[in-house]
Amino acid sequence: MSTTDAAYWRTIAASIVPEARLLIDGSFCDAADMGRMASTNPANGKPVAELACGTADDVERAADIAERRFRQGVWSRMALRDRMAVMFRLADLVEAHAATFAVLDTLEMGKPISEMLTVDVPGSVLAIRYLAECIDKIGGSCPTTNSDALHYMQRQPLGVVGCITPWNYPLMMAAWKVAPALAAGNSVVLKPAEDASLSAILLGKLFLEAGGPDGVFNVVPGRGAVAGKALALSSKVHKIAFTGSTGVGRLMYRYSADSNLKKVSVELGGKSPQIILDDAGDLQKVADWVVDGIYGNQGEVCSAGSRILVGKARHDDFVDLFRETAMRKFLPGNPLDPATTMGPLVNRAHQQKVLGFIDGAGAEGATRALGGEAHLERPEGCFVSPTLFTSVRHEMTIASQEVFGPVAAVICHDGPANAVAIANDTPYGLAAGIWTNDLTSAHSIARDLECGMVWVNGYMNGDMSQPWGGWKASGQGRDKAIEALLENTQMKSVWVTLSR
Ligand code: NAD
Repeated sequence: MSTTDAAYWRTIAASIVPEARLLIDGSFCDAADMGRMASTNPANGKPVAELACGTADDVERAADIAERRFRQGVWSRMALRDRMAVMFRLADLVEAHAATFAVLDTLEMGKPISEMLTVDVPGSVLAIRYLAECIDKIGGSCPTTNSDALHYMQRQPLGVVGCITPWNYPLMMAAWKVAPALAAGNSVVLKPAEDASLSAILLGKLFLEAGGPDGVFNVVPGRGAVAGKALALSSKVHKIAFTGSTGVGRLMYRYSADSNLKKVSVELGGKSPQIILDDAGDLQKVADWVVDGIYGNQGEVCSAGSRILVGKARHDDFVDLFRETAMRKFLPGNPLDPATTMGPLVNRAHQQKVLGFIDGAGAEGATRALGGEAHLERPEGCFVSPTLFTSVRHEMTIASQEVFGPVAAVICHDGPANAVAIANDTPYGLAAGIWTNDLTSAHSIARDLECGMVWVNGYMNGDMSQPWGGWKASGQGRDKAIEALLENTQMKSVWVTLSR
């Protein structure tokens, strides 16, 4: 059987017996109250696993041991080359377990296996390697001062970093959070999302296999409002690194204020614009990028380019090309089949929420130009077909709220200034794309957009050197790049008196 056959992946899926318990202090255990939560395959409604459901007591125990290990220095004071070696081994192990990781995330949240193998797993391996490489590349400074003193500043780890992650890129979001925290010398407690926790647990297991000390990287799956809240409120935790919705992100600041004023970084939602100017080049190439930018990962992407801003002169041609391209590239199907490019949404409630947005858009006067249905041939799965609305005004709900599904809204603009005004008229500020052949338009629009990431003549491409994060209600702080490592450190200034 070949890796291009669905049967190959079904066989692997049937053979995996995933670890589904909490990982605390190097051992797997049940929740303190023996509570469990079910994980369900959104492609067919079948159970995937019964997970241990961590309580507030479990979280506090994990935070306590993580803090103890930090103070003992088993990781925080490990020789940097040794710490690097553990992280490189972890990256190698994740790579070696690529098939298992791919199957776990696909089973739990419905992402096509092909995307796991080409994006999520390699992206996670790269994140761990990149951050490992950065470990001894960050320096302090020694500012010039009077000759009777020596002043130096250095970066030190924070202590315990609590990581809370979403379900849309279960492994990769865990890697983006955990790798910089560990690289900087912190201990970690990771609370993955309810819908997709298994790959996070496996990541913790592999850290131990890589030679990571017990208790330095703990994983506590559980309910957000219980385990997540307890983690963000714990006084043993010195930073909370959160990725998820803007609503829950706001709570992180409250929890911090109500506990120990821990540092907070949040990567949140978005309503990102893809701006097509009248002088954009080959419209078919643009359509390819734009379609991928909204329908990749079923549209369950924080940076999904869900608002498509097109100049009037190119509108009709672009919409035709967009529809053809979307229908050719994105056909919902069994996510374990390597030929599938679009899986189901994460669960039934989310599917119904997305269908509700679609109904609402029609009621508000937008024209449905493509899709908009649940996948009737697969009623047992939580599918929604790729959907496009035209005749959208930017104040409509479909153009202003994050749908987090395969739904795009086309809005007409009157030229670059109007496009920027529409693009910025949102509480969010995560990402944007611009298509133009004019250098001045490209750079001036990139300057004027209120968001953390801008792509010109492309969308969502980039590498680990690109800091990832938003402005405004899309968050604060950065994942990836050296910035992620710096965010997991704190500055210390040392003033040495040299006169006797
Ligand atoms: P969510 O906010 O519902 O959940 C995220 C995490 O927070 C989960 O682990 C959840 O259990 C936990 N949580 C929920 N309530 C909590 C509480 N009261 N206290 C502490 N933790 C709590 O988000 P989601 O539905 O899992 O993910 C989708 C959202 O994530 C979208 O809005 C998307 O845009 C965003 N996202 C952002 C980025 C980014 O980089 N900006 C990346 C991926 C996803």
